[in-house]
Amino acid sequence: MKFGGASVGSSRSLAQVLDIIARESSRWDQLLVVVSALDGVTDMLLDAAQLARIDNQRGYRRIAANLRSRHFAVVEELPLDQAERRALRADIDQLLSEMIDRCVLIAANLNIELSPDHSDAVVAVGERLSARIIAALLRQHDLRGAAVDGADLIVTDDVFGNANPDLERTTLRVERVLKPMLQRDMIPVVTGFIGATVQGATTTLGRGGTDYTASVLCVLVDADELWLWTDVDGLMSADPREIGDARVIPELSYAEAADLAYFGARLLHARMIAPLAQNERPLRIKNIASPEQTGSLVSDASRKRKPALKAVTSVQSLALRRPASGSLAGVTRLVGNTLFKSLGMRSEVLIASQSASSSFLCLVIPTSIGIDGVDRLERALKAKMAQYPEKMPWAIESVALVTAIGTDLHRAPQLMALTLDALADFEVYGLAMGASHCSISVALPTEQSSKAVRRIHEIILRSD
Ligand code: ASP
Ligand code: MG
Repeated sequence: MKFGGASVGSSRSLAQVLDIIARESSRWDQLLVVVSALDGVTDMLLDAAQLARIDNQRGYRRIAANLRSRHFAVVEELPLDQAERRALRADIDQLLSEMIDRCVLIAANLNIELSPDHSDAVVAVGERLSARIIAALLRQHDLRGAAVDGADLIVTDDVFGNANPDLERTTLRVERVLKPMLQRDMIPVVTGFIGATVQGATTTLGRGGTDYTASVLCVLVDADELWLWTDVDGLMSADPREIGDARVIPELSYAEAADLAYFGARLLHARMIAPLAQNERPLRIKNIASPEQTGSLVSDASRKRKPALKAVTSVQSLALRRPASGSLAGVTRLVGNTLFKSLGMRSEVLIASQSASSSFLCLVIPTSIGIDGVDRLERALKAKMAQYPEKMPWAIESVALVTAIGTDLHRAPQLMALTLDALADFEVYGLAMGASHCSISVALPTEQSSKAVRRIHEIILRSD
């Protein structure tokens, strides 16, 4: 089971977490828990690292002090005995002092860009804090909780900030560290999001990476199922902050969930579905506030699939326009090979559309490259264009990629027609159908994206 930041944000939600673990541990032979940092903590730690970069000592120390009082307050409010409380306070102080040491180091380096290995070391503190608190809470209630650092389990490459697990090496660690704990009926509470290179430097798996830790561990400990606990009722048909009547999607295939994550649903880490799909492990997404509800189930179990539209997402992206006499030759190679590599991203960029005269090219930048991928790519592109103004006389424009997701859309011409018809008065730059037939993506001007999302969502609601 994985508990996300929103489900471990306060002592009240931690009490719900405790109830859930207590109940489920009596229903299952073995239970593995993976946790995120308390809600908002990762953002604060990232801010601290940025402040350290500009040598703002007061700024990062103030953040450390806020984190200290926030975690102390949680420890104070939870039902813990004095000895556990004392031990936790010492742990919190220790971890935060390591964080400050790292900030001092960053400040001493005074780089223009914050190097991501430093930032990972700072940001990992959030999960280390929460795992210790949750493990202590379990112990206090006769459950054999033990905090485990993901850096001791998940071996990754050195793409700091968005690292990828090395499954072979990680398997060995899981066999050595995690399986014996499970066999002894302990409940390991693993820090999500964090890994380490073979040399031992702390890495992170990209924002929302606790999902990814959980899916990798689910497969490696041979778990029956993976449950993600959050503060909404499941995967939703649209972003509920944007669409008031968005509703829970009860069932999805792996391919649908993967496209949902890839094209912008924030609830799932973009790379987390693949290990589950390859090993056919069902994934449930549930709300800690209403655990009796079934939530969403991701699996390939349902054989009686009929074509249906299920969700709509949108993500920001970039497009390049060439002047009348220029050319866009070389863009694919530049973005795919050079820029992505230099940014430590894998070259997953897709070229969504290109007009016959190749005057306009939309770059689909999937969420898997990390939360600030679009900004970083734009900066890098601008720098390259400034270096070679004659060869690259392009204008960068911002576009949105709106994606409708559903089952076997290629067998549902009427749903496709409805979707496209809904966009008849939009300035559509490009259109693509996903290879797994569960997504149709449309590139359009950013200002038109929320209206397009609303229109497609109306079709979803009506098509039931
Ligand atoms: N705490 C990390 C984040 O905020 C990882 C996670 O929550 O999954 O991105
Ligand atoms: Mg998440």
